[in-house]
Amino acid sequence: MSYVFTAQETPSVAVAGTTDVFPVHRIYCVGQNYANHVREMGANPERDAPFFFSKPADAVCPEGTRLPFPLATENLHHEIELVIAIGKKGTNILTGDALDYVFGYAVGLDLTRRDLQSEAKKKGRPWATAKGFDNSAPCSAVHSVCEVGHFERGKITLSVNGELRQQGDISDMIWSVAEVVSSLSGFFELCPGDLIYTGTPAGVGPLKKGDKLEGEVENLAKLNITIG
Ligand code: MN
Repeated sequence: MSYVFTAQETPSVAVAGTTDVFPVHRIYCVGQNYANHVREMGANPERDAPFFFSKPADAVCPEGTRLPFPLATENLHHEIELVIAIGKKGTNILTGDALDYVFGYAVGLDLTRRDLQSEAKKKGRPWATAKGFDNSAPCSAVHSVCEVGHFERGKITLSVNGELRQQGDISDMIWSVAEVVSSLSGFFELCPGDLIYTGTPAGVGPLKKGDKLEGEVENLAKLNITIG
């Protein structure tokens, strides 16, 4: 058996402090996981069950990248997020066991074509074109749990051209890391290589060509990306 053409390479991100890479299997994202962001989007931050959407695995792109400005948008938004990197297979994982499934953490951006998302919300359509486009998931190196531990608190920030745009604290997440892993595993079998973007704090806003982004999660990592 041979492929009819050369298969695409498995997308991956670096593992900090090693020459190894983390092979990306799937990318999941949590919607509206910080109350102050839920409010800025015009919704009510009740503690509904978390909801999820996804991006293609090859939407991931590494730290230091200069991204082409995406197609088909006039309102590209930044969302800085803590990313969970899954290291073990599981379904219906209990909250109390969930942290055992985490290989490590990274800092990511859930880039969003907000104009397409607003249109989709209005018409009750899927978010695929708004969220799952090429290069829509910049991600820092993954730092293993052995190195950085787990994240229950810590500042999360994003600056654009040196100006602070987003800030929050991991402890403000409506659904914690363990709760997110547990809930998601009730819908999908989690696999080693899955990345979970855990939602963004308030301060999302538009990007233009030439913008330099620096995201950071305290005691974890920074993520630098340039647009256009
Ligand atoms: Mn997001």
